[in-house]
Amino acid sequence: MQTLITLPYAPDALAPAISAETISFHHGKHLATYVNNLNKAVAGTPMENMSLEELIVKSAAEGLTPVFNNAGQVLNHNMYFLQFSPKAKTAPEGVLKKAIDEAFGSFEEFKAAFAAAGASIFGSGWVWLQADAEGKLSIGKYSGADNPVAHGLRPLMTFDVWEHAYYLDWQNRRPDYLAALWQITDWSVIEKR
Ligand code: MN
Repeated sequence: MQTLITLPYAPDALAPAISAETISFHHGKHLATYVNNLNKAVAGTPMENMSLEELIVKSAAEGLTPVFNNAGQVLNHNMYFLQFSPKAKTAPEGVLKKAIDEAFGSFEEFKAAFAAAGASIFGSGWVWLQADAEGKLSIGKYSGADNPVAHGLRPLMTFDVWEHAYYLDWQNRRPDYLAALWQITDWSVIEKR
């Protein structure tokens, strides 16, 4: 049984990157629907008490598409919404900063590569910063509800590139939406993942 996460900021706190209107639809309607549909799909089965990560791995292996899509979207959105703050620490420090420098050259080069990857996803999907078992970082491009968990990787941070995430605020300007997200992405949250 999953519940809709409570956002740790006011609905209008992330503007202008994400408006209160987008928050009301994206969190209050889209994410709420994924949570409800997931709970319906697993009700009365042994999956009822599994974690999101367990549901994603099991449904990917067994081709349980409705469970995969809804569990994936709940995990993706939970990590997306919870990484934002109106008073974000806008750059990583410590171990994560070192790993980003090693993998991408610098934080600025990482941001450029990440935004370019997000802009280049065809249709609906997600761009992720992800880590392998050794802690090596990479950028992952995923379609639909797919995510690093389904591929044995650890999810660290993500930008949603489904149109519902940005169309009210940015219309077709996905690169502008992605650029604006850096101002609200809180690396103090991501460093703990
Ligand atoms: Mn979304």
